[in-house]
Amino acid sequence: MARSIVLLGPPGAGKGTQAAVLARAAGLDHVSTGDLLRRAIAAGSPLGQRVKPIIERGLLVDDDTVAELVGEALDHAGERGLLLDGYPRTTSQAKTLAGLLTGRDLSQPLVIEIQLTDDEVVQRLSGRRTCLACGPRPAGEPACCRCGGELTARPDDAENVVRERLRIYATQTAPLTEHYGSRGLLRTVDGSGSPELVASRIREVLERG
Ligand code: ADP
Repeated sequence: MARSIVLLGPPGAGKGTQAAVLARAAGLDHVSTGDLLRRAIAAGSPLGQRVKPIIERGLLVDDDTVAELVGEALDHAGERGLLLDGYPRTTSQAKTLAGLLTGRDLSQPLVIEIQLTDDEVVQRLSGRRTCLACGPRPAGEPACCRCGGELTARPDDAENVVRERLRIYATQTAPLTEHYGSRGLLRTVDGSGSPELVASRIREVLERG
């Protein structure tokens, strides 16, 4: 049975950055629901058109849509082990995920919560830029340092939308720490400091099991 890991944490905690590093180092398949949704929007698919206004307001996309995307992704990924970022985000999604994992012979997830205060989140996200091909890039760069591609600010990183995402995180996603904690599946790491520092904290937690 291959293992699965979930990265949990508020917007801006560094889930995407850490997931990319960790997936490469541990040979896991990285599935990010935020990336899947943004790709659908960029492609202009019917699903993309439907979710665009929801994401731009900082709200959650409905559980069925996200479950379908994750289910499809797992048809092509996860054999080597799975790293999920941005899913699950509600207790109901956690229950759906448990079924998806069992059906695909993957272990129940080890959940790593990356903690960051609201003030740090707002400060970080105001300078965040993303390359559509490579994901999050360091603040202050004129172009993607990997492929030279154009960098864009995410529309949902505007301060008022970030505040809404934080509110939703606190009400809908934070209860997952209880859900997984009571099952012995939760580990927490401090998300402040450089990406390298946070990555080393995550490695330590994984080594401890
Ligand atoms: P962040 O963690 O920084 O908010 P993500 O890239 O994970 O960024 O998600 C961006 C947006 O995509 C969310 O605010 C939400 O609208 C939507 N989204 C992503 N994952 C889910 C999910 N599991 N359930 C519902 N909506 C989601």
